[in-house]
Amino acid sequence: MTARLGILGGTLDPIHCGHLEAARAAREALQLTDVLVLPSRVPPHRAIQPVASPFHRFAMAALAVNGLAGMRASDAELGISGPSYTADTLDRLREEGTDPAQIFFITGADAFAEIATWHRYPEVLDLAHFVVVSRPGHAIDAMARRLPALASRMRAIDPPAGRHRESLREPSILLIDANTPDVSSTTVRDRLRSGESISGLVPAAVERHIRQHGLYGVTVRREADLTAADQLHGKD
Ligand code: ATP
Ligand code: MG
Repeated sequence: MTARLGILGGTLDPIHCGHLEAARAAREALQLTDVLVLPSRVPPHRAIQPVASPFHRFAMAALAVNGLAGMRASDAELGISGPSYTADTLDRLREEGTDPAQIFFITGADAFAEIATWHRYPEVLDLAHFVVVSRPGHAIDAMARRLPALASRMRAIDPPAGRHRESLREPSILLIDANTPDVSSTTVRDRLRSGESISGLVPAAVERHIRQHGLYGVTVRREADLTAADQLHGKD
């Protein structure tokens, strides 16, 4: 079977367990060879800026997928000077020799609902297959109603019974009803800022990175100091 490449893009500020579960569900349902996790670059003039730098967002993506089968973090967007538009990313992949029929761009249902506002819409939809994964509060069966002009391209992928083996010739919109956790990067940032726990919302290595580097307003935690203090305390 030809290699099928999934791509999960986004600000990933920070990457969390919802992103990973969306990628995992898409990979399983569509038998993707690899999923690239691709933090996007947001140019400085945009009104809404990511909180963490592109480098930290990439580092967290790499830590999050470390050891996960079929997942890779990509820094491809970080060296590009303009904004990361999905259509341009897909063009670049094609120029590098990837067959668009084997590219599966993964989005959550909330993000895909806004597709008509994307750069180079509707052309962007011809540059890859789009995989739309449900998200708590954003059901997959609302998609055809929300985007009636695209309904004829949509097809529900129903794992595990309907594991999807046939090759797709026309660019399609593939809908996956998954059970992704109810977490957003906004929630993670808000909880960190107010000193609440984020345990279970992001992989442990991502949380360690956030605390070690003092991202999102947390106080830097010096593991060595903590250990030394604990030891002193023990000798009191
Ligand atoms: P923010 O709160 O900053 O918008 P976010 O959690 O929505 O963060 P993004 O980086 O905006 O994360 O999302 C990247 C992609 O991942 C989008 O397509 C989004 O719909 C999808 N996604 C994010 N969280 C989930 C989730 N829990 N389930 C399914 N898809 C998700
Ligand atoms: Mg979002």
